[in-house]
Amino acid sequence: MATELTPDVLAELRRQLEAKRARLRTALGMEPPPTGDPSDLVGDSGDASVDLEEADREYAGEEAARHDLAEVEHALAKFALGTYGRCEYCDGEIPLARLRVLPEARYDAAHEALAEAQGRGGA
Ligand SMILES: [Zn+2]
Repeated sequence: MATELTPDVLAELRRQLEAKRARLRTALGMEPPPTGDPSDLVGDSGDASVDLEEADREYAGEEAARHDLAEVEHALAKFALGTYGRCEYCDGEIPLARLRVLPEARYDAAHEALAEAQGRGGA
Protein backbone atom coordinates (compact mmCIF):
# COMPACT_ATOMS: atom_id res chain seq x y z
CA MET A 1 0.00 0.00 0.00
CA ALA A 2 1.37 3.36 -1.00
CA THR A 3 1.86 5.82 1.79
CA GLU A 4 1.45 9.57 1.64
CA LEU A 5 3.74 9.87 4.63
CA THR A 6 7.14 9.92 2.98
CA PRO A 7 10.19 10.78 5.09
CA ASP A 8 10.12 14.32 3.69
CA VAL A 9 6.48 14.79 4.63
CA LEU A 10 7.07 13.36 8.10
CA ALA A 11 9.99 15.71 8.63
CA GLU A 12 7.83 18.66 7.63
CA LEU A 13 5.01 17.67 9.99
CA ARG A 14 7.52 17.16 12.77
CA ARG A 15 8.89 20.66 12.23
CA GLN A 16 5.33 22.00 12.44
CA LEU A 17 4.79 20.19 15.72
CA GLU A 18 8.08 21.38 17.18
CA ALA A 19 7.25 24.95 16.21
CA LYS A 20 3.82 24.62 17.79
CA ARG A 21 5.33 23.13 20.94
CA ALA A 22 7.69 26.09 21.19
CA ARG A 23 4.83 28.57 20.79
CA LEU A 24 2.74 26.79 23.42
CA ARG A 25 5.61 26.63 25.89
CA THR A 26 6.20 30.32 25.36
CA ALA A 27 2.50 31.09 25.84
CA LEU A 28 2.56 29.11 29.09
CA GLY A 29 5.66 30.88 30.29
CA MET A 30 7.66 27.64 30.29
CA GLU A 31 10.46 29.03 28.20
CA PRO A 32 11.45 32.39 26.71
CA PRO A 33 10.37 33.26 23.20
CA PRO A 34 12.67 31.62 20.63
CA THR A 35 13.60 34.96 19.12
CA GLY A 36 17.28 35.71 18.89
CA ASP A 37 20.05 34.74 21.24
CA PRO A 38 19.01 33.88 24.83
CA SER A 39 21.67 36.24 26.13
CA ASP A 40 19.68 39.11 24.62
CA LEU A 41 17.09 38.57 27.33
CA VAL A 42 19.56 39.34 30.10
CA GLY A 43 18.99 42.84 31.43
CA ASP A 44 16.03 43.78 29.22
CA SER A 45 12.96 41.59 28.85
CA GLY A 46 10.75 44.28 27.31
CA ASP A 47 10.57 42.59 23.93
CA ALA A 48 9.86 39.22 25.52
CA SER A 49 6.76 40.46 27.33
CA VAL A 50 5.30 41.72 24.07
CA ASP A 51 5.85 38.32 22.47
CA LEU A 52 4.18 36.60 25.42
CA GLU A 53 1.06 38.71 25.07
CA GLU A 54 0.84 37.88 21.39
CA ALA A 55 1.29 34.19 22.08
CA ASP A 56 -1.42 34.30 24.75
CA ARG A 57 -3.90 35.76 22.35
CA GLU A 58 -3.51 32.79 20.03
CA TYR A 59 -5.16 30.43 22.51
CA ALA A 60 -8.46 30.46 24.34
CA GLY A 61 -6.72 30.18 27.67
CA GLU A 62 -4.05 28.41 29.67
CA GLU A 63 -6.19 25.29 30.00
CA ALA A 64 -6.53 24.98 26.22
CA ALA A 65 -2.85 25.68 25.72
CA ARG A 66 -1.86 22.97 28.22
CA HIS A 67 -4.15 20.49 26.51
CA ASP A 68 -2.71 21.33 23.10
CA LEU A 69 0.84 21.08 24.43
CA ALA A 70 0.12 17.59 25.80
CA GLU A 71 -1.28 16.51 22.44
CA VAL A 72 1.72 17.93 20.59
CA GLU A 73 4.15 16.20 22.99
CA HIS A 74 2.25 12.96 22.49
CA ALA A 75 2.47 13.29 18.71
CA LEU A 76 6.21 14.01 18.86
CA ALA A 77 6.72 10.95 21.06
CA LYS A 78 5.12 8.84 18.35
CA PHE A 79 7.89 9.78 15.95
CA ALA A 80 10.33 8.02 18.26
CA LEU A 81 8.03 4.99 18.38
CA GLY A 82 7.55 4.97 14.62
CA THR A 83 3.78 5.16 15.01
CA TYR A 84 3.28 8.77 13.97
CA GLY A 85 0.50 9.26 11.43
CA ARG A 86 -1.38 6.13 12.50
CA CYS A 87 -4.81 6.10 14.06
CA GLU A 88 -4.54 4.97 17.69
CA TYR A 89 -7.89 3.29 17.37
CA CYS A 90 -7.59 1.17 14.22
CA ASP A 91 -3.85 1.54 13.41
CA GLY A 92 -4.78 2.79 9.94
CA GLU A 93 -2.92 5.60 8.31
CA ILE A 94 -4.33 9.05 9.04
CA PRO A 95 -4.87 10.91 5.74
CA LEU A 96 -2.20 13.49 5.03
CA ALA A 97 -4.85 16.17 4.43
CA ARG A 98 -5.97 15.71 8.04
CA LEU A 99 -2.44 15.78 9.42
CA ARG A 100 -1.73 19.02 7.58
CA VAL A 101 -4.66 20.64 9.36
CA LEU A 102 -4.05 18.91 12.69
CA PRO A 103 -0.52 17.49 12.85
CA GLU A 104 -1.07 16.25 16.42
CA ALA A 105 -4.14 14.19 15.43
CA ARG A 106 -4.28 10.84 17.27
CA TYR A 107 -7.05 9.36 15.16
CA ASP A 108 -8.43 9.44 11.66
CA ALA A 109 -11.63 11.42 11.26
CA ALA A 110 -13.79 8.30 11.48
CA HIS A 111 -12.47 7.34 14.90
CA GLU A 112 -11.91 10.73 16.52
CA ALA A 113 -15.44 11.04 17.91
CA LEU A 114 -15.69 7.35 18.69
CA ALA A 115 -12.42 7.22 20.63
CA GLU A 116 -13.24 10.38 22.57
CA ALA A 117 -16.69 9.09 23.46
CA GLN A 118 -15.25 5.82 24.75
CA GLY A 119 -12.04 7.06 26.32
CA ARG A 120 -12.77 10.48 27.68
CA GLY A 121 -16.45 10.45 28.53
CA GLY A 122 -17.26 13.55 26.54
CA ALA A 123 -17.13 17.15 27.67
ZN1 LIG B 1 -9.09 4.75 12.83
